[in-house]
Amino acid sequence: LQDKLNKAIKTLKGQGRITEINVAATIKEVRRALTDADVNYKVAKEITDRIRDKALDRKVLISVEPGQLFVKIVQEELTELMGGEAQGINIKGDPAVMLIAGLQGSGKTTFSGKLAAYLKKQGRSVLLVAADIYRPAAIDQLKVLGEQVGVEVYAEPENKNAVEIAQNGIALARKTGKKIVIVDTAGRLAVDEAMMQEIEALKRAIAPTETLFVVDSMTGQDAVNTAKTFNERLNFDGVVLTKLDGDARGGAALSIKTVVNKPIKFISTGEKMEALDVFYPDRMASRILGMGDVISLVERAQQAFDEDESKRINAKMRKNQFDFDDFLSQLQQIKKMGNVKDLLGMIPGMGKMIKDLDIDNDSFKPIEAIISSMTPKERSRPDIIDGSRKKRIANGSGTSITQVNNLLKQFDEMRKMMKKMNTMQSSGKLNKMMR
Ligand code: GDP
Ligand code: MG
Repeated sequence: LQDKLNKAIKTLKGQGRITEINVAATIKEVRRALTDADVNYKVAKEITDRIRDKALDRKVLISVEPGQLFVKIVQEELTELMGGEAQGINIKGDPAVMLIAGLQGSGKTTFSGKLAAYLKKQGRSVLLVAADIYRPAAIDQLKVLGEQVGVEVYAEPENKNAVEIAQNGIALARKTGKKIVIVDTAGRLAVDEAMMQEIEALKRAIAPTETLFVVDSMTGQDAVNTAKTFNERLNFDGVVLTKLDGDARGGAALSIKTVVNKPIKFISTGEKMEALDVFYPDRMASRILGMGDVISLVERAQQAFDEDESKRINAKMRKNQFDFDDFLSQLQQIKKMGNVKDLLGMIPGMGKMIKDLDIDNDSFKPIEAIISSMTPKERSRPDIIDGSRKKRIANGSGTSITQVNNLLKQFDEMRKMMKKMNTMQSSGKLNKMMR
């Protein structure tokens, strides 16, 4: 979907001036891209008609930057199509009960752990309940995740009655004063009647505050069909879209919202416990349009970053005093934020570039080793690093002189870039660019 929309919009972006024919052709491309992404034809026509009207209304044709204005209009319409505002989850109740439903492998157990961590971070007391009675391994999986995020897991490995387990878990939460219970359930590989009856019975028995349907965004049209079936039987409250770190770029988000008319509440973008974001329709629209999910990236960065440390480093950047110690500290902070590849994928234009690249957190190891082999003086004043020092650093870090040279060169370029940004910022140019 992204590629197709990009192509459509490129037609416009490439031209300083556009004609009415251009708009019509672009609208047609956008419509085709939407229907290709499983958006119902009628909906796709409606939205593109609205885009055309708005485009004419706002005089896209004679505006200074027709392409950009057009992109903005498409983005607004996509945002509207995906629900407009972000929708939170309801956590009122004593305890509030979250029922997690979906097919096997969709990411229910992983999401249960993430949701527990997310709520715990907000200062709430959470109990995880393992109600997957078919796979003993699923109980262990949840226990491992619970331990990882510091949330208690309730399980009854011998009990084959999911309703009983869930009810006992809720009773335990009430007794121990836990405010939120997350019930992880069993799924099947495909929709079948027995599973539907089971999850229906579970919902009836525990009357959850929120029933969340988890779906793998990589499964395309199947995701939409599965959502439809589950919604007919469960009348769930919200959708969790998983594996958005893969190739899927939001087609599923567009279609599911249209077909079941339930809000998407969370998106999951990786296997790590931190890789969970509240779903913002406007950000997803930007992501679909290939602008990158910059705001999510910034928010996640803020969560993981030590604020004082960031302030200190920012001040040094402004004064052009950024050195290798700061660089090392930043690397360590980035690693705390989760998988590097997930994060880089959110930077505009990066997604495509790094898709085939083999980056993981280990890629930083040689860099860290090199910096660790520098003396404090070398770290703060890299310009004193001459040939013999380079040799010593390479030996000490188990790298080569070429690797040391590369790092020094990259670091120098980074500093130059920072300097440039500083002058732009102070002259107000950067602000203009960001707008
Ligand atoms: P369940 O059967 O529905 O409970 O699914 P699991 O939570 O066990 O997840 C199935 C597989 O998908 C596991 O290997 C997870 O690590 C992986 N997974 C879950 N969510 C994501 C995600 O957002 N991105 C990626 N890349 N993998 C995920
Ligand atoms: Mg599971």
